[in-house]
Amino acid sequence: MNLWEKYLRPSNVEEALAGMASAPGLACPIAGGTDLLLDLKQGRHAHVHTLVDMTTIPELTTLEIRADELFIGAAVPLSHIVASELVQEHAQALIEASQLVGGPQVRNTATLGGNVAHALPAADGTIALMVLQVQAEIADLQGRRRVPVADLFLGPGKSLLNVERELLVGFHMPLRKIHQASVFRRIMRAQGTALPILNLSVWMERKSDLIQDVRIAVGPGGPTPWMASSAQAALRGRPFSPAALELARQALLKQVGFRTSAFRASAEYRNHLVVGLLNDCLETAWERADKDY
Ligand SMILES: Cc1cc2nc3c(=O)[nH]c(=O)nc-3n(C[C@H](O)[C@H](O)[C@H](O)COP(=O)(O)OP(=O)(O)OC[C@H]3O[C@@H](n4cnc5c(N)ncnc54)[C@H](O)[C@@H]3O)c2cc1C
Repeated sequence: MNLWEKYLRPSNVEEALAGMASAPGLACPIAGGTDLLLDLKQGRHAHVHTLVDMTTIPELTTLEIRADELFIGAAVPLSHIVASELVQEHAQALIEASQLVGGPQVRNTATLGGNVAHALPAADGTIALMVLQVQAEIADLQGRRRVPVADLFLGPGKSLLNVERELLVGFHMPLRKIHQASVFRRIMRAQGTALPILNLSVWMERKSDLIQDVRIAVGPGGPTPWMASSAQAALRGRPFSPAALELARQALLKQVGFRTSAFRASAEYRNHLVVGLLNDCLETAWERADKDY
């Protein structure tokens, strides 16, 4: 049996949505296909009648500054994000996350939209977008709306996005201001395709010797990627010091609920790792935010 019956190459969002709505069976978007084609081949996805290509829509492959935001189209390949000077300037965490996804061939086709829409708790690009306070632009036949990426996820593979009748158009990110910085780190088990044991990303704004504001995202460690809200609260407004790091450590360890995974690592090991990652990301973000640009 074919994996799909019909393949559409729309030239704009409205045409794509109309194609999905008029399909006689299940229709869904496809971008790089690095997740979806494997899921279809391995029987983890319901049979699809119509695949609708996102990469033929110019709006979805745009990466540009729009007023006071950086816009990254949902179908921009990760390799373009890694090579982009705009992303380097405004969202270093996203560069660091994107360049860890798969190998070069995967990054040449895999997209940020696919990474978010697949809604897995370990998705590297997603975790970086959460600390960067990015809003996802979603379109359906009625119009468009924006949802913070951090609020999108409902469970493993589940999000507010209805991929049978909605599209991710792209991501809107605030431009980085002076004394703001971000960082992403991943601990992984190398086995051909590296399986993440733990990812952590930090965005920070510093004011002299104070942590003016901070955001911390963590995954995989639960059904969705999550914000370390207690550690954030423990750090905000404090001088960057061993005492502040200790408060953040205690707050984070109260919030984590790691379980032992046969594929990733034991809960005990991930409790140990999360503290090391937190310190590393906070120290790196603090140093980066000191730069006078
Ligand atoms: C060898 C290998 C290694 C990998 N390594 C990593 C890794 O290290 N880290 C990591 O995070 N991921 C990894 N992945 C997973 C994958 O590459 C990423 O999740 C990728 O970003 C998915 O993007 P895509 O364009 O290929 O999505 P697709 O496979 O095309 O689509 C994925 C899902 O998103 C939906 N979708 C796609 N575009 C849109 C849109 N615009 N609007 C609405 N729904 C949409 C599809 O319907 C589908 O449900 C790996 C995959 C492979 C094969």
